[in-house]
Amino acid sequence: MLDQETALSRLEELDRTYFLHPMGDLGAPPGTLPQVIFTSGRGAEVTDLRGRTYIDAMASLWNVNVGHGRAELADAASEQMRSLAYTSAYNGFGSPPAIELAAKLAELAPGDLEVTFFASGGAEANDTAYKLARLYWYVQGQPGRNTIVSRVRDYHGLTLGAMAATGIDLFKTQFQPVTPGFLHAPSPDPYRYEAANGESAGVHYARAVEQVILDAGPETVAAVVVEPVQGAGGVIVPPPDYFPQLRQVCDRHGVLLIADEVITGFGRTGRWFAQEHWGIQADLMIFAKGVTSGYLPLSGVVLSRHIHDVLRAIKGTLPHGFTYSGHATACAVGLRNLQVIEEEGLVERAAQLGERLLGGLRRLERHRIVGNVRGLGLMAGIELVCDSSTKERFGPEMRVAPRVAAKALEQGVIVRSLPLDVVGVCPPFVISEEQLDHVVEVLDRAVEEVAADV
Ligand code: PLP
Repeated sequence: MLDQETALSRLEELDRTYFLHPMGDLGAPPGTLPQVIFTSGRGAEVTDLRGRTYIDAMASLWNVNVGHGRAELADAASEQMRSLAYTSAYNGFGSPPAIELAAKLAELAPGDLEVTFFASGGAEANDTAYKLARLYWYVQGQPGRNTIVSRVRDYHGLTLGAMAATGIDLFKTQFQPVTPGFLHAPSPDPYRYEAANGESAGVHYARAVEQVILDAGPETVAAVVVEPVQGAGGVIVPPPDYFPQLRQVCDRHGVLLIADEVITGFGRTGRWFAQEHWGIQADLMIFAKGVTSGYLPLSGVVLSRHIHDVLRAIKGTLPHGFTYSGHATACAVGLRNLQVIEEEGLVERAAQLGERLLGGLRRLERHRIVGNVRGLGLMAGIELVCDSSTKERFGPEMRVAPRVAAKALEQGVIVRSLPLDVVGVCPPFVISEEQLDHVVEVLDRAVEEVAADV
């Protein structure tokens, strides 16, 4: 027993000494951060080194949609690795899984989003989308159309390009200079918007994007990039007329619309892709996370047939690519993962369970510090405020969501604290009703305890 304890302590010490964690806290004194080393997972649960089991109510990083411990996906990877783990996809080279997955994505994606460029992570895919948008204009003799308009609070990743598009200052302040060529428009905050002159919130916020395009000069703007539902920025679901209006704004000024469906893709919102909720189609769609449910890194950009036709005018090499574009094993796992989602009806399940989750969380609105609860499908946020009657936020120096998340963790439920003092909940689609109800109960208690303390 002692030996096992020594082995565990050793691993924790090695972790502290040698592993620079993404989003890790550089300044935290040793022992003050919850150090949790996970060793196994099954369905919606993960187990740590000390044998403690948690409900993974964030699907890890919004991505383990089909749940942990799926033998089918391990088998798909193993089978592909034994025949051909990897090969270049440059020029005309390729592998059957990459080709099959590209064809499958064309079948699933809205409208004429039909041609896929593969990458590995969400930020790489964002960089790719911005470059393809610029290329689209370049080949048409308009290289000056190169500005990318994104929005405040949108999260697009943290490579230099994606970081520039990301609308959360925390991720940029210490990394100046930010890559030029990016502008930020306001993004919907429908929970606080007071309709003026009969203008709906959707029209109002779409106009705000249009104003940025007009101020910059439409002839300088290549594309607008948006998260259909803001995730890391605080789980913000746009008003129903926002996307149709935004599509019109882009069309009016000949600007491309890029949908970053890195979180929302592959069923998370109760539809295959979030765009479908509003009956619109983007010109370029970015995907990552859910395409493999996180079992291997894979991402990409799906281009509309029209964009692809225009790019083909280059009649030469596409001057963009990554070593791991179209990785055979990652694509084999992606294909199998999509098959699991289809066979088990997980998109419909996400829609049904999403209603249960939102219904349960709405009970938390009785607490003084809950401003509102919102969500779409299995993606929800609880916004915490000083007083629910005024909706006044606690402010940057005092955030309450981390305290709620910490209390939930103590109770064996993993959620995430997000900007705007929001607690994010985003469980795997296979979570059971009992587990989901338990998550709600734990959060209810955690909010109640924190409320008594602030
Ligand atoms: N886009 C969105 C909407 C995301 O939520 C994320 C990551 O959370 C990214 C892009 C970046 O993805 P990655 O961390 O794989 O680079």
